[in-house]
Order: sequence, then C-alpha cells, then structure tokens
Amino acid sequence: MKNERTGCRTKLLYEEDAYLKEVKTSVTDIQNSSDGTVRLELSETVFFPEGGGQAGDRGWIDDVAVSDVQKEDGRVWHILEAASLKEKEAVFSIGSIVDAKVDFALRFRRMQNHIAEHLFCGIANARFGYDNVGFHLSDVVTFDLDGALSDEDVAMIEDSCNRVVWENVPVLVHFPTPDEAESLPFRSKLELSEGIRLVEIKGYDLCACCAPALHTTGEIGIIKVLDRMPHRGGTRITLIAGEDAWMDYQNLDAQMRELMKLFSSKRELTAGMAADYASRMQEVHLQNTELKKEITSLCAKDLLREIKACESKPEMYCFFMKSADEVMVRNVINICVKQYDGILAGFRGNDEDGYRYVCGRLEEPGGPEGISLRALAKEMKEAFGGSGGGSEIMIQGSAPAREVVIREFFHKRNS
Ligand SMILES: [Zn+2]
Repeated sequence: MKNERTGCRTKLLYEEDAYLKEVKTSVTDIQNSSDGTVRLELSETVFFPEGGGQAGDRGWIDDVAVSDVQKEDGRVWHILEAASLKEKEAVFSIGSIVDAKVDFALRFRRMQNHIAEHLFCGIANARFGYDNVGFHLSDVVTFDLDGALSDEDVAMIEDSCNRVVWENVPVLVHFPTPDEAESLPFRSKLELSEGIRLVEIKGYDLCACCAPALHTTGEIGIIKVLDRMPHRGGTRITLIAGEDAWMDYQNLDAQMRELMKLFSSKRELTAGMAADYASRMQEVHLQNTELKKEITSLCAKDLLREIKACESKPEMYCFFMKSADEVMVRNVINICVKQYDGILAGFRGNDEDGYRYVCGRLEEPGGPEGISLRALAKEMKEAFGGSGGGSEIMIQGSAPAREVVIREFFHKRNS
C-alpha cells in the first residue's frame, strides 16, 4: 500500500525521526541486478533515498553494505554491494526479517550541511528576497541563489548563520495538509511533487524539504562559506558545516603551522611574511632574467672570438654552458649564427648526469654537399647514446657522455 503523502510503499521513518539509526523490518521485494548487486525493498526504512540534490544514505542490512538508496516510482530500493554480499554469503528472501542500520556518522554530517544550507538560504531570502534555484550536497554543499551577492553580503549572511547556530533554535518538521500549506509562507513551493513536508528553523526559515533534519541549529556546529561566484545572473555558494568544517579547520591549521615554521613567524604575521617573500621572489626573478640576458650576450661574444681565432674556419663548433637553461643556449646560438655561417652546438649539463644539446644554424644548406642537421643528430645518438632530432635549422636532444668525448667528436668532424 502506498502512503498517500510520500507516494512510497515503504514507511520513511527518517522523516519524523532522523535520529533513528536502526530498525528491524521485513523484506517486501527483491531485485537481482546483472552487476551482482541486489536491491531490497523494505516495509519500513531508516535510509534516506537520493533526492532533492542529496545522495542516498549508506549503511548495512544484516551486515551487508548498502552503497546507495534510490527511489523509483514509489519504490525505495536499498542497493546491496556485490562484494559485501559475496563476503557475507548473504541470501535474502521476501518476508524475512532484517536488521537495517544507517551509517549515522555520514547521515549526521549530511544533516549538518543540509540544515546549514536551509539556514543560509532562509537568511538570504529574508534579507535580499532571493530564492534557492539549485542545490547539490556531496563533500561540500553547493547551491545557487537567483540574485547577486557581494563578498560583503555573503560574509554578513555567514556571520548571521553562525549566530543562529549559537542561539541553538529548534528545527521542526511539519506535515501540513495542502489547504494549510496554501497559506504558509514557505520556500521551495515549486519543488513540491508529493505531499508536503516542511522543515522550520524556528524564527529564521520555513522550507519544503524531503531530507532528514537535525533537532536544533546548535548541532550544525559551525558554518563556513568556501566560495562565492556569479552564476547565471545569480550567485553560486559553496559551504561546509559541522564535522566537515572542523576537519577543514584542522587541515588548514596543519598547513598554517608548516608555513609558520617555514617563515619562522607568528601565526598572525605569516600571511604578511608570505607576501613579502613573494614580492622579493619577483625582484629576484626580474634580476635573474636580466643577468641571463647579460650572460648570454657575453657568452656569444666570447664564442665568436674563439671561432675567429681558429686557424681554419670550422664547419661546426661546440660550446658548453653547463649551468645555463635551454633558452640561454638557444639565444647564444641565435646571436652567433648571424656572424658565423657554420653549425653551432651548445651543451648544458655535467659529466655525471649527461648533457642536453641544441644545434643550430642560420639557414638550410643550398646544395647536397652541405651537412644535414638531422643526420648529425643521428650521428650524435650513435656516438653518445641518448636521443635527438629536429629540423635542418635546429636540432635538440640528450647526450649522456663526458665533455672530453663530446669535444673529441666535434674535433674529428672538423678535421
Ligand atoms: Zn532541504
């Protein structure tokens, strides 16, 4: 028999008592799925099925893990995990009495987050007249309001919410008749599909809702907004409450302690010291860039002088800039090839870890007698190991060899 108000065959015990953790009840139907899961319908349930943006409860039925609870066409299905069924060697039959137990720690966290959202939206509605037009509860609560809020507005609502938490006002559940509901000023009137259930935060909010509710606002513990962003002309808010907010605080505190150690600073001075550090880093970065330019230009001058001093003009010439980065090596080559029409091979790295190279020239050789850079990459691969390739203007790669071996290779290539 379906309940007229809920539209369900199963009695939803959590609607009136969200603190009921366990019930002994009978199995009224069973479905076996091809993926090995089994779905049970029960006569009564303490499990909240997914709905209104909140995931289904988890828990155990006769010690078999319930991974999800879904409502379909007035049927509430408790989905039993395949692995857990196998492990417990559990068999269920219609009419048998089972022990259904909800994962109350998870349920309680979700209630903290859910009622926190009601409170935030209730206060936003009272102060700004905005409605909640979207809600999702996973690890955090995300919801959309249909009007713009500034950071200051959000901070003000957040502060008011926490004061209502400390005020510890009752959270009540009502089941008005449709006629009674008609005259009540509650939020989310449009979302009503079945019979009406209202959750009231005494003095602050009245909203249609199908999910389990706390007894008082004090149980929310704390409400912290994590993010505010404009969304489709309104505002998307992300918040956490209760145990999730406490875990987040612990995590942030641990990070703060690490930073305090790093900057040898007092808690309240750490952000300032981090800002000073970041601005000093920026100065160092700019100075570093300028120094690299100067070194590049000096190296290029030096290299051209070396090449000019050679008795006969070399076809290719290698140089080492051991601590340079790739951009510096490339820039030296780009400067030098304007005055030297051979191939320049720049190496950076060291004998222990090997070298990275870039070889370049100004333009491709006109005839077949010119040296192919791609062929050179192959030759170097054979001589040094490593890898390499590129175009006929520039190749790059690795050379896990010692400097003397590399210099010898180029010396032989020229003679
Ligand atoms: Zn709700």
